[in-house]
Amino acid sequence: MGINANLLKNIRKVEPYVPGEQPQRKVIKLNTNENPYPPAPGVKKVLEQFQTDMLRLYPDPTAEILTEALAGFYGVDKEQVFTGVGSDDVLSLCFLTFFNSDKPILFPDITYSFYKVWAQLYRIPYVCPKLNEDFRIVREDYYQENGGIIFPNPNAPTSIYEELEFVEDILDHNKESVVIVDEAYVDFAGRSALELIEKYDNLLVVQTFSKARSMAGMRIGYAIGNRALIRCLNDVKYSFNSYTLNQTALICGAEAVRDKAYFEKNISKIIKTREMAKEKLAGLGFVFPDAKANFIFAAHPKYSAQEMYLALKKADIYVRHWDGERIRDYLRITIGTEEEMRILFDFLQQYIK
Ligand code: PMP
Repeated sequence: MGINANLLKNIRKVEPYVPGEQPQRKVIKLNTNENPYPPAPGVKKVLEQFQTDMLRLYPDPTAEILTEALAGFYGVDKEQVFTGVGSDDVLSLCFLTFFNSDKPILFPDITYSFYKVWAQLYRIPYVCPKLNEDFRIVREDYYQENGGIIFPNPNAPTSIYEELEFVEDILDHNKESVVIVDEAYVDFAGRSALELIEKYDNLLVVQTFSKARSMAGMRIGYAIGNRALIRCLNDVKYSFNSYTLNQTALICGAEAVRDKAYFEKNISKIIKTREMAKEKLAGLGFVFPDAKANFIFAAHPKYSAQEMYLALKKADIYVRHWDGERIRDYLRITIGTEEEMRILFDFLQQYIK
């Protein structure tokens, strides 16, 4: 049954974000940039010892155990840290909190597709400057008047990382706007803009436990920045839902942060496999921008990406493909274990022959 047109007029309509597939059976899963290795071993221990009686109580709304662990890890005060249910939750609240101008916010035309969805959902005007021919963000495009700026570094799905000097230049040109650097993948790439937070009160850095910390299933994200910005973010959070992170996420997240050695080992394994994967892909004739995240955005001059995507899927190897202008020739391939990558390359070798 439909609903009447007058009723429909008052309903908020939005074209939602489309997440990558999560098949509920075992496949070679290289489609949503998850980490192929388990979380830090301490996380398992914490879960084994978890007292379910704790579930009677609401979790700590300030998420102190986690914000303190993060503050310690990054050498900032806990008043500079905000946590949420994955960086999607944090970013969504950031849009609501910081992007309130009549002027358009700016983000690249090819980037994390959720930005456009939040802008539309919250009715924030936006402009999307085009990446250049090489899929690089053009810094001068971000010198124009705006109501805020957001970009990922490394960018997604291109995997291109820009040096801190680039980020700093954008911050310098936008002292009146909040600039959000979405660093979901920075641990695989290079220096974080966290180095700049004392210098720039307009900078907010957002990171996640979903990638380098192998905890996408637990949904933990965070923002670090100036105390005043974090306070505003908390005010908006408490106007929505006080208890966002659940009991288990709080203690598991804090435990994961404590194990720096595991974190670093996990990252270096992925980087090593990524560098090997670049050589393999190049050897097979693929072209791609230099990948700095845990994925490679690759095209083959002789083969349709759409057809390759479907053939791979048939073989239970999942990668990501979008039918968008300028990107339909590309596959986004997440870095898996060495064994998973070997299976992928065996398939591609056969396919390309
Ligand atoms: N930012 C970027 C650039 C991403 O690719 C993702 C992952 N889809 C996210 C944020 C959100 O990740 P999560 O909500 O798992 O922290």
